[in-house]
Amino acid sequence: MRVLILAPIGRDARLLAGTLASLNMETAIAPDAKALLAMLPEGIGCAIVAEEALTPEAIQALAAWVEAQPPWSDAPFIILTSSGRPTRESHHRAVGLQALGNFTLIERPARPDTIQSSVRTALRARMRQYEIRSRQEALIRANADLEQFAHSASHDLKEPLRSIGIYSELLSRDYTGKLDRSGSEYLAFIQSAAKRMNALLSDLLSYSQVSSDAEETAEHVSARGPLEDALENLGCAIGESEAQITVGEMPAVRMHASHLAQLFQNLMSNAIKYRKEEVRLLIRLSARKAEGYWIFSIADNGIGIPPAHRETIFGIFKRLHANGKYPGTGMGLAICQRIVERYGGRIWVESEPGRGSEFFFTIPA
Ligand code: ADP
Repeated sequence: MRVLILAPIGRDARLLAGTLASLNMETAIAPDAKALLAMLPEGIGCAIVAEEALTPEAIQALAAWVEAQPPWSDAPFIILTSSGRPTRESHHRAVGLQALGNFTLIERPARPDTIQSSVRTALRARMRQYEIRSRQEALIRANADLEQFAHSASHDLKEPLRSIGIYSELLSRDYTGKLDRSGSEYLAFIQSAAKRMNALLSDLLSYSQVSSDAEETAEHVSARGPLEDALENLGCAIGESEAQITVGEMPAVRMHASHLAQLFQNLMSNAIKYRKEEVRLLIRLSARKAEGYWIFSIADNGIGIPPAHRETIFGIFKRLHANGKYPGTGMGLAICQRIVERYGGRIWVESEPGRGSEFFFTIPA
């Protein structure tokens, strides 16, 4: 990490370089603001700048560089001010300097140990920032590896599964009557397990396919269209359950229509699946705006969710019921959560067991 120095008075620059050399710090001297700007992209530990070098144009150019830095970066500037009373000009400059974000003022003549301790503190802070950057990069790599793994695993496992499905189908067709009761029963178990595994893998594949660039490539869509697609896909289930569905005003949001349709579909199909036998199923969909987000709500009067499970149900393959009563893979809500988080929103549920659940998800407005 280099310490960049911009001090038009050669005496200052030499004094600073000498003070820092005794600390074994690499320094580079910039003759003017333009040269300093050119040095910044090569990597900066911190920059020490004499205030007389900071013309309004130089401050503007530095601020533009700071603004363009990635979120982990907060490059430290140490500004050497002149001694004496504050003037209008010095006040003006101090206000302009705010745009640099991370800056410290040191009054001249500064003692060498004042400069050394300020530089040491600045470099420590900068070191932390670089550490955060490498951790972030490692996390992004690990995430991409995991996504690739989930995708390949779910994709490649389908192939042998298809063979299991085909051959057990052939067995049951060509060996009817040749297998005894236990044999036929075992075969039926194999077939239903293969079907279930196929459903699990399909859902895992959809989960891994919710791409990480969803937000950047999204366009404005009216939520009405995706909602109607979801209602159409669930037509049979809605008809069978005789659900009564009410829909409030739906806004336009910046999302891929297929993602929004999947959210509505997964949440409504759960409302249908986890309904109560004894009452008419009511599903209420609405949206309202608050604090820069659209908050969508899907409320039902179904069996509800015990408080202890209101967070765990969003996990991969997490289910609260055995397969017999309510079929499913435990991936529906995990997919919803992944979609919503890709757009910078969140999803949660409020529920009263035995009385119903209300799922909420937010999308930036
Ligand atoms: P699946 O429905 O396949 O089990 P989900 O991820 O969609 O998977 O849901 C996870 C669990 O959350 C379900 O097993 C169920 O117990 C609970 N759940 C989800 N939606 C509702 C709802 N509307 N009412 C009651 N329970 C629900």
